[in-house]
Amino acid sequence: MSDQYEVLRNVFGYDDFRGDQDQIVSHVIGGGDAVVLMPTGGGKSLCYQVPALVREGCAVVVSPLIALMADQVGALQQLGVRAAYLNSTQFPEDRAEVERAYLAGELDLIYIAPERLSQRGTREFLARGRLALIAIDEAHCVSQWGHDFRPDYLALGELAEIWPDVPRIALTATATRRTHEELTSRLHLENARHFVSSFDRPNITYRIEPKASANKQLLDFIRTEGVVDGEPATGIVYALSRKSVEKIAEFLAANGVNAVPYHAGLDRRVREDTLHRFLREDGIVVVATIAFGMGIDKPDVRFVAHIDLPKSIEGYYQETGRAGRDGLPSVAWMAYGLADVMNQRRLIDQSDGDAAHRRVQSQLLDAMLALCETPTCRRQQLLGYFDQQIEPCGNCDTCLAPPATWDGTVPAQKLLSTVFRLDREFNRSAYGAGHLIDILLGADNARIQQQGHTRLSTYGIGTELDGSGWRSVVRQLVALGIIVPHGDYGVLRLTEKAAPVLRGEQTVMLREDVKATPRVRKASRPVSAAPDLSDEDRNLFEVLRRWRAGVAKEAGAPAFTVFSNKTLEEIAAVKPSSRDELLGVSGIGQAKLDNYGDQVLEILAEFESA
Ligand code: ADP
Ligand code: ZN
Repeated sequence: MSDQYEVLRNVFGYDDFRGDQDQIVSHVIGGGDAVVLMPTGGGKSLCYQVPALVREGCAVVVSPLIALMADQVGALQQLGVRAAYLNSTQFPEDRAEVERAYLAGELDLIYIAPERLSQRGTREFLARGRLALIAIDEAHCVSQWGHDFRPDYLALGELAEIWPDVPRIALTATATRRTHEELTSRLHLENARHFVSSFDRPNITYRIEPKASANKQLLDFIRTEGVVDGEPATGIVYALSRKSVEKIAEFLAANGVNAVPYHAGLDRRVREDTLHRFLREDGIVVVATIAFGMGIDKPDVRFVAHIDLPKSIEGYYQETGRAGRDGLPSVAWMAYGLADVMNQRRLIDQSDGDAAHRRVQSQLLDAMLALCETPTCRRQQLLGYFDQQIEPCGNCDTCLAPPATWDGTVPAQKLLSTVFRLDREFNRSAYGAGHLIDILLGADNARIQQQGHTRLSTYGIGTELDGSGWRSVVRQLVALGIIVPHGDYGVLRLTEKAAPVLRGEQTVMLREDVKATPRVRKASRPVSAAPDLSDEDRNLFEVLRRWRAGVAKEAGAPAFTVFSNKTLEEIAAVKPSSRDELLGVSGIGQAKLDNYGDQVLEILAEFESA
């Protein structure tokens, strides 16, 4: 049996473990259980793949993503690893062959969906072979409150009793204390060691801007910042509803963006096709609901855009984390406005859950709103939510262009007092933001006339702000919980927090809305797939990239499973002249050397002599 460092070098072609990987791998090889919390792109897979190759027997990897299993296994086979999967998409004879190989001890890893693993037949079958370990990927799916909850994950707790001697490792990129505790107890990992990494993703720039005309803002953003080496970059746009997903995708496509919709209402085959295209094509933009993204390991997603407000910071962080796994500069961008807050509040009010559930949802939303309105570092706020402290990051919109704050007490009082007077003098509090703002601006429209609202003492007293200034005030007052939308029509009511503001006992500091201009990236240098190369080396890099595209196409595999950009970049910079030197390149192990080494050396020789 080889040790973990040999496996890391020979199979994966890497020199060193990253972060906690070394400790996690040793612990699992030694037979211990582990709970691993690591951000997306942190390197979770190696934490179970290396022990799978070192320990005797075959590792079972529980993965919820049937559509991705073939690619995951394909990537391992590219490394010369004996991997396979069992799922319902297989022909019976293929499944029989996998089962035979498992029983004959010819497999190192086998991927199985949780549904299948909860079946008695599967467990009896696995018991006839030898298990090296059980890895539970995306382990937050066991959490009831989690946004990816999968009932079949609950049954995975039983594995502890069935195989008490087989080490189990649960991994997730969701880091809240509640999820952590929940998965530990539900998966019966009471005796596990816990490895919690820093959740910082320094290469992602976070930006949240006020929504004015969302589609146009999105298009501007994609045109200016969704570009790598002058070519359209790969990105994901998240929207809340299926309808808006389709509309936005259509709008983007009509404007020349290679955009495709993805949501749970589409036919399964259409969804799988989109997934495959996303993994294989460059410059594709998937517009999706949250149904898209879990487990997708495409390394060069350059941006994640949110056109609607996410329901929680957990969700937002998972989704934005899909950008920049390769460590290169990437952007998480969001447009957010008053209507988003109103919508989310309404959805919570109307949800089926009990009062406790609604209270939790409401707290999650409050934290999300606090992130949107914070005048301080976004990243500090984000990581603070996961109980992790950092210094101001210098790579978010508030760090790069600190927003001014202003004393909004007087405008707040004017607005609150309008709501208060409407209730007292007209016996009605049933008005939305638009009407309140019309009153404050002294608008002279039919509705105001009909209702006699020109008689209000606050009529026309708010001309120090314009309509968008007032909407910003309303949005922030809602975010602060001083007013709340009520019922279906976005009617605004005062909360108990309004009284001290009205009485002048509390000041209200507001954030100056920054104008929606995509200027942050322009200041820094444009993103490139290989930022550190000289012009000549970049040409070589492009030659290698084209060669890789051909190889990938022939193999029907995503390009990054042949070689990562990082590996190609290193080859272009170092220009190895022998197989031995190639082995020194990060990402080239024995199997990749055997499969592609000679071709790469040939390309290098040709390039040198040209
Ligand atoms: P996660 O599952 O945590 O999102 P992955 O396991 O997909 O992350 O790893 C992210 C990227 O980092 C992959 O391209 C992987 O090959 C690379 N990687 C992981 N560990 C190492 C390492 N020790 N050295 C170099 N690259 C690594
Ligand atoms: Zn910052």
